[in-house]
Amino acid sequence: MYDMHVHSGYSSDCRLDMEKAVLCAIQKGLSGIAFTDHLDIDYTDHENEFQYDFNDYFGRIDLLRRKYSTEIDILSGVEIGVQPHVIAETKARIKDFDFDFIIGSTHLIKRRDPYYGSYFSDGVSKVDAYGEYLDELFGNLMLYYSDLSDDDKPFCAMGHFDYIVRYAHFDDSRFLYSDHADKVDDIFRFIIERDIALEINTSTYLRQPLDLRMLTRYKELGGRLITLGSDAHSDDRLGVNFRKYADCVRSCGFDRLYYYKDMTPLPYDI
Ligand SMILES: [Zn+2]
Ligand SMILES: [Zn+2]
Repeated sequence: MYDMHVHSGYSSDCRLDMEKAVLCAIQKGLSGIAFTDHLDIDYTDHENEFQYDFNDYFGRIDLLRRKYSTEIDILSGVEIGVQPHVIAETKARIKDFDFDFIIGSTHLIKRRDPYYGSYFSDGVSKVDAYGEYLDELFGNLMLYYSDLSDDDKPFCAMGHFDYIVRYAHFDDSRFLYSDHADKVDDIFRFIIERDIALEINTSTYLRQPLDLRMLTRYKELGGRLITLGSDAHSDDRLGVNFRKYADCVRSCGFDRLYYYKDMTPLPYDI
């Protein structure tokens, strides 16, 4: 399997050395690993963090490919943190670099990251909180694509559409399709029409299990592109629960997952 969402020391919230990650991925029997470090321009309270030098990054990727190409596929990538006011600058920053894979993620809701528990402290209900996140995510997707020129890079996958779930502490924090059917349908239709893959981000499901109705609905709407990503920030998290979630994907009627090379989706059987 391919771990299509891994962070390294090029992310300011991560110290994992790339080579260490590659060796660990080989040891775990992964077929490929995509380094998708954070480009999160004007991230709240950390304006200059979550950005990295792409030339330096690609140099390191090349070195590792030369050393390990017979053992594992090493894929280049970036995880874009989208906010409405950074879209133009983000597109300009990435347009001259040949990433294999680009994840479009939403981490902030109106400048607030649910990672910090204060997002939930004003007594917001679960349905309202998750709904607000989905609104922000959908708004960001629409804005990014509203004036996407031929020179701009599209997203290969939508990152962790259930990101907010990770940091919630409700009595029952499960993110249920039935609570947000209309919003989830809108998002799924949008990504399906544009060939943006749905990411199964297994880091989220260390906290709350995935509602499999999400996957069956994605399939009903015509979805076929699914990637698996651990969102690992340390080597012990690489490929975590991949067999379990590949089986979930299979049980929902899919027989393939995808990895990306040169921005092109490539299937593998599960
Ligand atoms: Zn993320
Ligand atoms: Zn990530």
